[in-house]
Amino acid sequence: MGMREARAAEQWRKVGTFGTITEGGQRLCTICGTRVHSYQYRFHPPESSLFERCIGLAWCAGCRVYCGSMVHVSRETVLEDALASLPRDRCEHLQRSETALLDYLDSRTHDSSAQPGR
Ligand SMILES: [Zn+2]
Repeated sequence: MGMREARAAEQWRKVGTFGTITEGGQRLCTICGTRVHSYQYRFHPPESSLFERCIGLAWCAGCRVYCGSMVHVSRETVLEDALASLPRDRCEHLQRSETALLDYLDSRTHDSSAQPGR
């Protein structure tokens, strides 16, 4: 329950898990009601026997919490690469820092929710 750092609100906090409920096909945070987003990406190269072991991130932008876990995604499944359109050095920066990656991924969710049409 420590509230030692006031500026912690700006920082992503990694947790083992956090409460979500599914409502109308969306996952919502039980604490603040914000829609929970998730992202999966591959960590091992295609030639690796561990290729299907991916990283799954889920986060609540309202609480600034996220959790990461190992998820199994079959070799045939093509995962969206959120970093594909970025310059290489920015890409490498995001790959080194989970919190920078979350900032980027979360900013994308704002973009897509603002898109007209469906
Ligand atoms: Zn929340």
